Formats: sequence, structure tokens, C-alpha cells
Amino acid sequence: MTWLITGGAGYIGSHVVRALAASGHATVVFDDLSTGKRSRVPAGVPLVVGSILDGDLLASTLREHGITGVVHLAAKKSVAESVENPELYELTNVVGTETVLAAAHACGVKYFVNSSSAAVYGESGIARVSESDVAIPASPYGATKLAAEGSVDRYRALDMATCSLRYFNVAGSDAVELRDDSVANLFPIILRNIEENERPKIFGNDYETPDGTCIRDYVHVRDIADAHLIAAEMLVKGELPAVMNIGTGTGSSVLEVVRTLLDLTGSSLEPEFVERRAGDIGELVADVSLARKVLGVNFTSDVREIAASLIN
Ligand code: UDP
Repeated sequence: MTWLITGGAGYIGSHVVRALAASGHATVVFDDLSTGKRSRVPAGVPLVVGSILDGDLLASTLREHGITGVVHLAAKKSVAESVENPELYELTNVVGTETVLAAAHACGVKYFVNSSSAAVYGESGIARVSESDVAIPASPYGATKLAAEGSVDRYRALDMATCSLRYFNVAGSDAVELRDDSVANLFPIILRNIEENERPKIFGNDYETPDGTCIRDYVHVRDIADAHLIAAEMLVKGELPAVMNIGTGTGSSVLEVVRTLLDLTGSSLEPEFVERRAGDIGELVADVSLARKVLGVNFTSDVREIAASLIN
């Protein structure tokens, strides 16, 4: 088995490549290096620099390296950017995924692990969302991830063994060089604030939550990488559900995350409460019973452990 990891030079992808390699799997990285970095690709792992919209390059890569399975992570991931530029998200996340699927299918690839997101759920009003709950995305980003799941399902209905992993809020790192430097999510933004001695901003403290700030299910990127490894290995042995939530099942508030980061860095800055951010949902926590049952995983990293992995 050789796995092609699209987006393998990215923050999550590079952790996935390491998890697969550490378990003895051969991997090849396919990445356009738009946000990915060459330095995140381990020595000995081939890197093909190219776009997931380039079906010919994908096909030649799949053939040349004898790829038998694909882990597809290459995507655009900012909710805010997707509101400003929905066409870019449609192109990269939907057309891109279709292009990877078509090339994989044409080259006889049988196994496909797809990176999806909790953003597919939108404002459900349910305490812990499960895969059987209706998914109505609240952002163009979420809508493109849901559409991409649909594309994967079409190939599943042909002859591919597939699984889309709906990650909740991924954070943390296994190594300094693999950290998320996009400054697009809560942990990296707050760490940047602390570094620049700016008061961290908390978007809204009037949500219907115990401390009034938003609640999310933060999951360590190491656990996300393990989920991919287990899903990839299980797909080869048998079927997996079409979609699976990957989280901890425990919610933490933004205030809790900010206070933890301030505490661990020894900062005396005080958070500043500002207006709600457009499109934010009050609470989004995973029902993880399916992944627990099927993958046999029980991810328990808490906010403190995740934060500590980002501090030198
Ligand atoms: N957030 C915040 N201040 C920031 C960045 C994020 O209060 O500087 C909040 C944001 O409103 C949301 C939570 O942190 O409630 C997680 O945001 P993120 O963008 O990391 O992930 P999302 O859940 O939106 O995908």
C-alpha cells in the first residue's frame, strides 16, 4: 500500500503523514505549497508540487508511485475567506475534490479518506451533534465541505471504500515546525496576540453558555492524525461509515482557552470582550459515539494539554 496525501505539507496533513509513516506506511505528498511548506515534509517522503485541479498531474503521480489509497486534505479552510470569496472555495474544495476523485478512480485507487468538517452542521441547536443529525451549513466553507462529502459518496456508490472524517476544532501540534502558522483559528490568533502584547479579543460574551462565550470541541491534531491512520487501515480491511465525527465530545469555552493560554505563557494581558463575530454558532460539540465504536478511539486531550503543545 502506498498512500497519497493531498495537502500533506499543511498543518494537519503533515501530522497525518507522520502518523502513517510511523506505522510503516509508504506515503507521497501532493501539495501546491500555497499554505503548505516543503520543510514539513519528512525526509524520504516524495513531494509532488501541484494543484488538485490538475487531473493530469494527479493521474501521473498516482500511476508513477503506484498509489493504492488517497487521504485527501488539500482544501481552503477559512470561514471568513469563504464568505468573501465563495467561488474560490467552490473551485478548490468541490471541483478540487472531484478532480482528485476522478483521477483516483481512473487509476484504480480503491481507498479514499476524506477530510471534512464540523462546519457542515451549522447552527443545529443540538448539544452534541451526531452524524445522523441534519447538516445545514452556516458558511460557504461548510457548504463546500458538505458538497465534497457528496462527491465522495458518489464514488463510494461505484466501487471505492471511502470515509469522510468531520473534524471539530483542531489545535495543538506534535512539533514546533508543524505548528499551524495560518493565524486563522483561536489558538494561533491568541498566541500571536500574546507575542505582540495585544489584548486577546473574545467575540461575544452574551451566548447562552455558562460563561457567555462560544463553546467548541477542541481536538488535538495528533488525535486527528491517529484517526486518519486507523481509518485508512480499517478501510483496507472492510467498510467504514460514510461520515464520522472526530472530536472529544467535550466542549470548552473561548474564555477558558484564552485564560489557559494567558496562564501558560505567564502573560498578564486581560481579554477584551467585543461584538459577536458574524456566522459564529454558540455551541458546537461532537457526539463521538460512532468513532468510539467503529474506530475504537477515545480522544481526551483537554485544552490545557493542547495549549501546552504550542508553547516552547
Ligand atoms: N474567537 C475569538 N477570538 C479570536 C478568534 C476566535 O473569540 O480572536 C472565537 C470564535 O468566535 C469562535 C471560537 O473562537 O467562537 C473558535 O473560532 P475558530 O475560528 O478557531 O473556529 P470555528 O469554530 O469558527 O471554526
